[in-house]
Amino acid sequence: MSDDETWMRAARDFAVAEKGSDPANTPIAAILVLDGKEIARGVNRTAECCDATAHAEVVTLRAGGAEHGDMRIEGATLYSTLQPCGMCTFASIWAGVSRIVYGAGRKDVHEMYFEDRHLSTLDFVVDAYKDDLELVGGVLSEECANLYYRPWDDVPEEKQAND
Ligand SMILES: [Zn+2]
Repeated sequence: MSDDETWMRAARDFAVAEKGSDPANTPIAAILVLDGKEIARGVNRTAECCDATAHAEVVTLRAGGAEHGDMRIEGATLYSTLQPCGMCTFASIWAGVSRIVYGAGRKDVHEMYFEDRHLSTLDFVVDAYKDDLELVGGVLSEECANLYYRPWDDVPEEKQAND
């Protein structure tokens, strides 16, 4: 198994440990790794904290900055079980993260998870912004996608929280 797969498996296991495997509980997790060592991890806490910004990646970047003693965590890799949204991608840029590695991509999950109609935020970032932010998708994509509503799932309107 590659290092990316090892960390992604750790993130997926953490998501399940914290939130179970029911997609209704948004079991999304992130782990921040610097020089081969984990410095922070987090799960989505939007519902519990009534905080729209408490995505797993942002929770993890906050904890990682505190642990690192600097908001800039250059050279770090952010692992996320689900393709990061626009907010989290840009938060990663502000944090100086060097790589984002994600599990399930937008094609693997229900459209409710993504805010944009056509343009992938990641594509936008790759095209328009930093050329030193590496993006790697699809690591253990099926195992991660199995935690979420899938494209073919009939998700009731009230569960389509997009958080
Ligand atoms: Zn996000």
